[in-house]
Amino acid sequence: MNDAQPYRGRFAPSPTGPLHFGSLVAALGSYLDARHHHGSWLVRMEDLDPPREIPGAADQILHTLEAFGLEWDEPVQYQSRRSACYEAALAQLQQSGHLYDCACTRKEIADGQTGSSSNPVYPGTCRNGLPPGRTARAMRVQVYDRTIGFQDVLQGAISQQLNRDVGDFVLRRADGLYAYQLAVVVDDAAQRITHVVRGSDLLDSTPRQIHLQQLLGHPEPAYLHLPVAVNAQQEKLGKQTFAPAIPEQRKTASLVQALRFLNQPLPILTAAIDLPDLLTWAIAHWDRSALPVQRTRTAPTGFQREATVP
Ligand code: GLU
Repeated sequence: MNDAQPYRGRFAPSPTGPLHFGSLVAALGSYLDARHHHGSWLVRMEDLDPPREIPGAADQILHTLEAFGLEWDEPVQYQSRRSACYEAALAQLQQSGHLYDCACTRKEIADGQTGSSSNPVYPGTCRNGLPPGRTARAMRVQVYDRTIGFQDVLQGAISQQLNRDVGDFVLRRADGLYAYQLAVVVDDAAQRITHVVRGSDLLDSTPRQIHLQQLLGHPEPAYLHLPVAVNAQQEKLGKQTFAPAIPEQRKTASLVQALRFLNQPLPILTAAIDLPDLLTWAIAHWDRSALPVQRTRTAPTGFQREATVP
């Protein structure tokens, strides 16, 4: 898979806050895998969702990557500037008859479910046209009665039957914003990404992305889903869980912790090594076969939410 093409990897953060331990792990994993394979490594800012973003976070993330020596090739791509490309993909799907307008509200979809689920399966209400008197809110892509499978480099064989597990999914949201699933597929193809190395929280999104790649005629990259850093409550580190920013002063120690998290070999005298040398060492010794297979791992305590003072 993809071995004939030059390796092109990427890190695609959403600027919802500063880089925390979980995003450092994703950045480092994709960087080391790319550099170990003599590949290019790109950074794409997934700034598609202004209500969730923090002003200044994009620059802060780039600054931290640079401070760690995680240098990217090619200019950073900003999704906020690529609406025309997403529109073109929607038009292509519309023309080929896979896209439709949907009038349903979240509440209507949730109310129609038998079981309780935070991600209800869309029942296809608007698939054959809007019900009388209703106006279009979102745009959905059709899924079909077939299994979509792929071989994750780390997690092994993964498959989903989208019509049973997800349903037709949103590509343009009711608030007019483009959905992550659409933008990521358009941009991975536009940037000719051959290898996607990212957190396992996105494993469930991958079959939807492969479905879109197939409909749009894009190649399927290789996927490697790393363990996601969680706190003691098993919650993913992030803005919602108040994950602290990576401390600027302790970069070498943070890098060692991230390498340990990924179960990578370490030089014998880590205390005596400086940051650039450690990174060079880590590129040379990157070992996919040592990566932990579990989908979540607890982050070192210092990188979780600081204890609140009573
Ligand atoms: N922007 C997504 C995130 O920060 C990652 C997208 C991806 O790697 O495909 O969770």
